[in-house]
Amino acid sequence: MKKLIAAATAFLALSGMQAPPAQPAPLQLWRLDCGEFQINQYGAFFSDTFQYPEGPKTIVGSCYLIRNGSRYFLWDTGLTDRLVGRSFTTPAQTLKLKRSVLDQLKDINVRPEQIEMIGISHWHFDHVGQAKHFPNAQLLIGKGDVDALKADPPADKDSKEALAHWLEGSGKLEATIADKDVFGDGRVMMLTTPGHTAGHNALLVRLASGPVLLTGDLYHFTEQVANRGVPPFNHNRADTLASMDRFDRIAKNLGAKVIIQHEQADIAKLPAFPQAAQ
Ligand SMILES: [Zn+2]
Repeated sequence: MKKLIAAATAFLALSGMQAPPAQPAPLQLWRLDCGEFQINQYGAFFSDTFQYPEGPKTIVGSCYLIRNGSRYFLWDTGLTDRLVGRSFTTPAQTLKLKRSVLDQLKDINVRPEQIEMIGISHWHFDHVGQAKHFPNAQLLIGKGDVDALKADPPADKDSKEALAHWLEGSGKLEATIADKDVFGDGRVMMLTTPGHTAGHNALLVRLASGPVLLTGDLYHFTEQVANRGVPPFNHNRADTLASMDRFDRIAKNLGAKVIIQHEQADIAKLPAFPQAAQ
């Protein structure tokens, strides 16, 4: 009898070990509206080879929320929400913002303290503007960008101010030097793609419906993919071209859906907020 019980126990233990692995937690991706830009002379703004005609062009700003089970990751934080309800005009462009990220998160019942991590594609002002509303989140950003903001003088005073909480040691900061597996399960990866800035990253999101690649500002609009428009204000031209090559090969090899974050036409590639891609 003892033997029988021992055998049954062993069998149960074994069958428990052989149980199929638990389903991975659901992965969801929302696109948030993070601004609009009316560029006055887009040829000069986006190409150092006279690739594009002069004239006005409207581009958009996008942020993305990713949910992995009960964990939340915000990718880019857009223009400052001081712009909500007004516009700001410089000689080069007019900036607008309809709604803040916090306001949009309310629509899907996500509280700011639920955001565990913020990933920033690069330090430019239109990607760091609303980070300060998530002081409890860990900040993930390329080390090259951290160095640029900590330099004397900093690459940009406003961007440094926007991320001061982390740069000055009050918030948890990870300055990435290689690709970063955000949740540790291989499904969301920051991809080091320097050139636009020294520490620029793109993002790969491997949804159940198929992989999605978010460009950061490796590209700003569709035509740049084919004709390699490099903005004259990029940090390094050769690095930009190498990063475009890497990014395009990843997209091709994985059959990924490419979303250019500033491209108006690419908003429709994801479900309209508050719906999420899965
Ligand atoms: Zn940008």
